[in-house]
Amino acid sequence: MKRCSLITKITLWFSTAVIIISVAAVFVTLAVSSAVIRRGIRENLIATVHDNFDEIEFYLEHDELEFDDPYDLAINYKNGYIEVDDDFVRSVNGIETALYDDDGLVYGDGTHFSSEEVPEFNDKHVSIVRAGKTTYYVYDVILNFPALKDSRLWLRGTVSAEYSISQVNTITKAVLIFIPFLILIAIIGGYLISKRALAPMLEIKKAAEDIESGNDLSKRIEIEGGSSEVRSMADSFNAMFERLEDSFNKEQQLTSDISHELRTPISVIGAQCRFSLENEDTKEEYAEALELIERQTKKMSRVINDMLTFSRIERGAGEIKKEKLNLSECVSSVCEDMALISEKNIELNSDIEENIFVYGNFELLTRLCVNLISNAYRYGKENGKTTVTLKKEKDKAVLSVRDNGVGISKEDLGKIWNRFFRADASRSSGGTGLGLAFVKEIAEIHKARVDVRSEKNNGSEFFVIFPVL
Ligand code: ADP
Repeated sequence: MKRCSLITKITLWFSTAVIIISVAAVFVTLAVSSAVIRRGIRENLIATVHDNFDEIEFYLEHDELEFDDPYDLAINYKNGYIEVDDDFVRSVNGIETALYDDDGLVYGDGTHFSSEEVPEFNDKHVSIVRAGKTTYYVYDVILNFPALKDSRLWLRGTVSAEYSISQVNTITKAVLIFIPFLILIAIIGGYLISKRALAPMLEIKKAAEDIESGNDLSKRIEIEGGSSEVRSMADSFNAMFERLEDSFNKEQQLTSDISHELRTPISVIGAQCRFSLENEDTKEEYAEALELIERQTKKMSRVINDMLTFSRIERGAGEIKKEKLNLSECVSSVCEDMALISEKNIELNSDIEENIFVYGNFELLTRLCVNLISNAYRYGKENGKTTVTLKKEKDKAVLSVRDNGVGISKEDLGKIWNRFFRADASRSSGGTGLGLAFVKEIAEIHKARVDVRSEKNNGSEFFVIFPVL
């Protein structure tokens, strides 16, 4: 089954939540409103009956009647007259008020109840009475007129409970028409908002697909607008692509460098084999040919080893363990060891300031020193001199390796840090052309800077400048 998109999922969840909340809200509203309406109707009933109560008087003599209004009414009752003021309201808001005595209706409409059904009177009490299929609220108030002697008059208000239901129904209808519109607006709004919010994600997806289909690792995700979270996600993706591109390029470079470096010795071996097979026949000549092949094999093995170590360091730069270490001790011990294997009768002097601490990796820093001193030997003159110094200058530690050897020409100075670069003069030195590339890489891992000062035939001085702790 095809999985639905995030936008559909969000919209579905959103809509379901809105529908559930709306339905719950409708139920609560209806329940509350019907309770409120019912209470309102009861209160209205009581208030209407009490208002009408004040509009009724009983007089024994006709002369006592107070007709302030032509619409006031006098009812001949028993031994006197009931005066119903004009303000008496017989019917309002579904409430009907009528005057009763113990025998039945005296004034007003008592249409709700047949004469047999007329419920018992109950002073100042709301009763719920059923008549036929209808339920009524009934409220009575007794009218005590001393002149009436034994007779009692009751003022009775009646309102149908259906009246409250019809009001609730009106609200229900309004809500039922209004709610679907509200839900529709909420769903459309939710859909549009989620679509807008997720638009940058789609851009990221598209960019990733472009990179994948075009196999172009140099592409980057560019987002206009979008929330900070999405932008930071795009940044992370870009950083990842950058790393991928970097390691992909390094991989390619490594392959091409290795194949380039191995081509020459392999061609030499091939040519030598062919020559020997065609021409040579004495044992000495074969031995010579084999020696040449062995030399080329050793060279290839050196190139492969160096290259693999180099690429391991280069790729694992982020994971190399570093700690606070005494650079002075590290450089001193390398100098001591290297003095023992000095070539061409070269003298190794050192001037190392004690206790200079850096944050670094002991093995790599040892390798850096070894490479620089090896080069000083390799490109030094017979009976020459090499001087190693380590000094603290402000917040930097400056390591220098100086020799009075062959020096480097101006044109070559910029290239010596490149992998496999060897100046013409030093092609036969036996180096792989990776020594200084190692030095530079190790320096970068330690946030150090490399530099060189050299003149052709006038010696060289290499510098590595570390940040100190
Ligand atoms: P390798 O020594 O294996 O050839 P390096 O990367 O160590 O490779 O050095 C690269 C090139 O820089 C060398 O071939 C050489 O021409 C030059 N070079 C390095 N160190 C010195 C030095 N101390 N004196 C003169 N030339 C040097």
